[in-house]
Parts: sequence; structure tokens; C-alpha cells
Amino acid sequence: MVQVLTTTHLVIAVLMGLLLNLNRDEWFAALTFGVIIDADHLFALPRYVDDNGWTAIFRPTWDDESGLPWKSLLHYPVGAAIIGPLAVGWRYMIPLTFWAVHVSIDELQNELIAYTNPIEAVMFAGAFAGILFVGYSRWAELREDATFKGYLRHVGSYWSGVFSQGNFFRRGRGDST
Ligand SMILES: [Zn+2]
Repeated sequence: MVQVLTTTHLVIAVLMGLLLNLNRDEWFAALTFGVIIDADHLFALPRYVDDNGWTAIFRPTWDDESGLPWKSLLHYPVGAAIIGPLAVGWRYMIPLTFWAVHVSIDELQNELIAYTNPIEAVMFAGAFAGILFVGYSRWAELREDATFKGYLRHVGSYWSGVFSQGNFFRRGRGDST
């Protein structure tokens, strides 16, 4: 089993979210099922480090052949049986879509274990560049005097607005500015 860095899942989920123009509820579902499902690795981490030592964290695969479970059901295709019903009624079936992308990326890494580091670096850089490109071009469209610096300031205040006062968990549609 292979560890894909959670940060890579995060940038990919954020890029998808931007392209789909998610609202706050949808962001919450997308990040929960596309990124936070990796929390299961964290629960298994203490046992793994106990058995293998801290340096084992740098192994490309965390499989120590102990046969002990690493990942919850949510990391296997069978997890679709749990996520599928939750996704009914969501635009783009968001929980299922973001979860499927997460599991597919993990699977892809599994297949390509020998090249896992370069591929992950490329995915990360590509998704990150995509986020900046999509975000900036949409933002700049509405402004005459757009600068990249101004855009970064805008992003900072957007996200602090999303996370402040529990807005992230509240129902509410499209007040993206
Ligand atoms: Zn994962």
C-alpha cells in the first residue's frame, strides 16, 4: 500500500472544486471525502512507527508486511457502497466524485510504485499551477487593474471568510465574490 501525500490530494481536490465552482457546503463535502479520508492513515501511524521506527516514514510504501490494516474500508472500491448513498442529491455527486478521485490516485500510485515520487511531484505541481491559473484568470476577468499580488490578497481573505465563525459548516449558497 502506498502513501500519497495528503497535500497532493488537497491540491487536486481544490483544483476540481474551483473548476466546478463549488459553494461552501460543497467544499465541505468535497474536502471531507477527497482529502480528510486520509485520516485513517494517521490512526495507524503510531502502530507503524512503534514497529518500524520513525525513519520508516520515508519509505515510499508504508507496507511493513505485518498484514495489519492501514486503511479503512473507505480506501477500497467497496467504500463506494458507503459513499454512494451519501452522494445522492448532491450536485455532481460530489461526495462520490471526490472520493473516487482520491481512491483512484492512491491506486495509480500503487501501480506505478517505482516512479511514485516523480509522478506525485508532477501531479502536485500541475494541480497547484492549475489552481493558480483558474483562480487568477477568473478573478482578473472582473478587474481592470488586476495584479497577481492583488489576487493572492483576495484568496487569503476569501479563505479566512470561509473558515471564520463556522461558516464552513453552515448552509448557504454562492456568496463567492
Ligand atoms: Zn488516501
